[in-house]
Amino acid sequence: MKTKRYAVIGHPIGHTMSPFIHKRLFRLAGVDAEYGVIDIAPENFDYEYKETLSRLDGYNITIPHKQRVIPLLDELDSKAKLYGSVNTVYNNNGKAKGYTTDPDGFLKALEYARIPLADRVVILGCGGAARTMAFEAALNGAILELAVRERSFKKAEKLADEIKAAVSGADVKCVDITKLSGDIKTLVNATPVGMSPYTDAQPITDSQLKNCENVFDAIYNPLETMLIKKAKANGSNAEGGMSMLVWQAVVAHKHWDGSDYDVRDIEKLCVDAYEELKNK
Ligand code: NAP
Repeated sequence: MKTKRYAVIGHPIGHTMSPFIHKRLFRLAGVDAEYGVIDIAPENFDYEYKETLSRLDGYNITIPHKQRVIPLLDELDSKAKLYGSVNTVYNNNGKAKGYTTDPDGFLKALEYARIPLADRVVILGCGGAARTMAFEAALNGAILELAVRERSFKKAEKLADEIKAAVSGADVKCVDITKLSGDIKTLVNATPVGMSPYTDAQPITDSQLKNCENVFDAIYNPLETMLIKKAKANGSNAEGGMSMLVWQAVVAHKHWDGSDYDVRDIEKLCVDAYEELKNK
């Protein structure tokens, strides 16, 4: 059988973890495939994209092309439509279908960490990652709070309005991160606070963290942020963001070739991906 061809397309694309993760996933599934890196500058996108697609069986697409690619596709998955964003494309004999795998990657990471997305869920931040996580929490019926700095309150309210318009019955409000109090079922950090090299920072205080039964941190460098370490020390159930990065890649393979994976292989891939990241 012919070797399949995949790649990640973006600009700039020098530090991507995608080849490491996807090559491992192809190997684990026994799929004979190559996975490359293609840098396409925005001004060359329309021409180079068409040239490139004809040579690929599927690809990942990242910043700054996640929206730009949409009008060039033949079909969009329902989540890609909801988010207006595509990070994975399957080329089915010339017909290109676009998906976004971040939402399902987030859900899978929570599922395997046994972190519920129900009851009182607090998401810290209202940027790109928070948007996906907040929509998924609302779709899951959570009582959702977006906890942000005072200066981003308007942006958070806009996101809350967007969620209410798209998800019928969504229960979502915005709160000042410094005033966060009371028991929280699941806390999700979607800010970069605590990310390498500023690993001794945390987005909320120790006493706020003590009230959190479950904690998910989107940050994947370091593997365990100070927030995660302290949450574990408090006896909370806690998980870092590398699992989301890897699971969203696993979901892409589901779309490309239907592959299934042993959860122990995925756990090992998370640890190895972090070692690879440190060497980069
Ligand atoms: P982003 O769009 O820049 O959003 C960052 C958010 O964090 C903003 O709402 C920002 O609010 C807030 N924030 C920044 N500093 C803060 C502070 N000191 N206190 C409170 N809020 C603060 O970034 P993003 O793309 O969403 O990424 C956020 C994090 O998620 C990054 O660490 C990224 O690596 C990680 N991530 C992980 C995955 C994964 O697969 N694991 C996927 C995507 C992203 P202001 O408007 O107030 O600045």
